[in-house]
Amino acid sequence: MSLIKQVFIYSDNPSEALSINALVDYLRGLGFDATNRGDLLSFLDLSDEDENEYIKSIIGTRVLDISSPLERPYEPADKGVDTELKKLLKDLKSPEVMFDGFWLQRILYRVMFKRIPGELKSGLVHIIFTGKLFGTFETKRYHARVVLLGIPSIISTSGVVEAPARPREYYWLKAGFIQSGRGIEELDEVFKGMFIEYDDPRITEVLKSYTLQVIFYEATGEAFCQNKCCCLYNSHWQEEVLRVQLEGKLCERHKKTLEFLTKGGKGG
Ligand SMILES: [Zn+2]
Repeated sequence: MSLIKQVFIYSDNPSEALSINALVDYLRGLGFDATNRGDLLSFLDLSDEDENEYIKSIIGTRVLDISSPLERPYEPADKGVDTELKKLLKDLKSPEVMFDGFWLQRILYRVMFKRIPGELKSGLVHIIFTGKLFGTFETKRYHARVVLLGIPSIISTSGVVEAPARPREYYWLKAGFIQSGRGIEELDEVFKGMFIEYDDPRITEVLKSYTLQVIFYEATGEAFCQNKCCCLYNSHWQEEVLRVQLEGKLCERHKKTLEFLTKGGKGG
């Protein structure tokens, strides 16, 4: 088990419902040395040219075909980058745009390495909260993800809305609604509260649990817990997210690990 020396948090236009300060306070309350580094682009402090390159490379990681993996990012034309930038980097509510998580992570690593080369090492956790929806390719198609572990780890406020499945009845009814030409808004109203929505006030609480998954992964190499009552449980359904991640309770085993990570390790 490796010690966690510091946790750095960055924001990349996540949902406005997410309070990064509350999250940092929560981590400090647990005994972690956590720092809010603010807006990622401002922190990176890129030259105009590098920023343009960075944005272009991000745009190039968009998933254009959900049924085939992105072998490598494509080169977007220079023209139109400004408008695409505004649309993609600021518009949180565009779940129709998905990015390839691993390529996104590589680009973020590269750009962070330039800025903080000495800080991308074990014991230091870097977490970027983003509004971008990203996915990973699994056997047949891309699946949306809430969290991508690694350096840096990325947590998506759009992913928490789109990735865990809604109640089965929702999908049955949705098909019927679409066939009969009715708006989905009506359906969302019926199921209100049963899944996380964009700008949901519960997002901060839920993402505290995902933040712990990242930290535990860095420390132990294991992100998930098999215990369905532990907030490190790998939820696939919104119902599970609203039970375990919203509750934010750790199982006995992980409570002990947490104690070690925040107190036990410091003396030794
Ligand atoms: Zn556990």
